Amino acid sequence: MHLVTDNPFSGLEAFVTENVPLARFTWYKIGGPARYLVQPRSIEELQEAARRCTETNIPIYVLGLGANLLVCDQGVDGAVFRLNEEFWRRIKFTGNLLEVGAGTDMQKLLLRTVREGKSGLECLAGIPGTIGGGIRMNCGGKFGDIGSVISTVTVMDSQGNIFVRTKDDLVFDYRRTNIVAPFILGATIELEDDHPDAIMSRTREIWMYKRNTQPLNTKNCGCIFKNPRGLSAGALIDQSGLKGLRVGGAEVSTKHANFIVAHKGCSSQDVLKLIKIIKERVYDKHQVVLESEVRIWPL
Ligand SMILES: Cc1cc2nc3c(=O)[nH]c(=O)nc-3n(C[C@H](O)[C@H](O)[C@H](O)COP(=O)(O)OP(=O)(O)OC[C@H]3O[C@@H](n4cnc5c(N)ncnc54)[C@H](O)[C@@H]3O)c2cc1C
Repeated sequence: MHLVTDNPFSGLEAFVTENVPLARFTWYKIGGPARYLVQPRSIEELQEAARRCTETNIPIYVLGLGANLLVCDQGVDGAVFRLNEEFWRRIKFTGNLLEVGAGTDMQKLLLRTVREGKSGLECLAGIPGTIGGGIRMNCGGKFGDIGSVISTVTVMDSQGNIFVRTKDDLVFDYRRTNIVAPFILGATIELEDDHPDAIMSRTREIWMYKRNTQPLNTKNCGCIFKNPRGLSAGALIDQSGLKGLRVGGAEVSTKHANFIVAHKGCSSQDVLKLIKIIKERVYDKHQVVLESEVRIWPL
């Protein structure tokens, strides 16, 4: 039980800070601040901060690398948890079983598996993010998705209770899972032995494909919209004549129409306005309602 003060995180100042700009923690580099930024160094610190949020009704947000995220200009009036300390980035190989913390960078992990001669994560080539964000979004594409190699996922609810979800009860669908707990803490992943050169060659092939088809070296947040069943959101946007359309500093990518690129001076409001225009124009032309893939905070 903590002492009752005005500060809901009193005593936790070593890892909770107030009014922290979030833009630098996102791929887009835009958006406002978090009322509280929580960067726990251990499970115990995470549990304590989560319980404080529950007791005081502070909304909980969990941030990975912010690669699929648009933070609104006014910021987030809640607690943003960032699992970036060493404990959350641990990687352990036991035979073909890989144990990883949720904050592990997927690209660094992929390169490590290549070096270790373990195959299975090649489909993640060119997809920025953490393991936690990757599992939450079941990230992937035409070469496969992360869900297919996941063995177990450790999750935590907002009261601090920890559960291990196994392959038998996990469902991974197109850009979603059936995990409802707010926190993904880590996972075990099943890999297969292969020669590092062969794994590297597959990884490079996938990465080249992505580099040729997506605006990888721009500020963006990946695909804005999910592909409607049997259709390509990018093709629908392209056929609506929207490639290159600009609102303020936000532009529909000329390389891949399902990406919105943020140029200098771009605000989150510019991106939101452009999203609204795209949805309206695609509906007018194709009678298809596009659904967001990007997570928008605080909506
Ligand atoms: C250039 C570029 C290319 C991309 N290409 C692809 C692609 O080909 N395929 C694809 O699927 N995606 C792609 N993306 C989107 C993005 O890379 C993935 O969605 C990735 O999984 C996001 O991970 P993240 O850690 O950045 O999550 P964030 O963007 O930080 O968060 C995304 C969601 O996951 C939740 N989350 C994050 N960490 C945790 C956690 N530990 N516990 C619980 N919830 C958590 C957040 O709350 C949020 O709801 C691309 C993005 C970019 C910028």
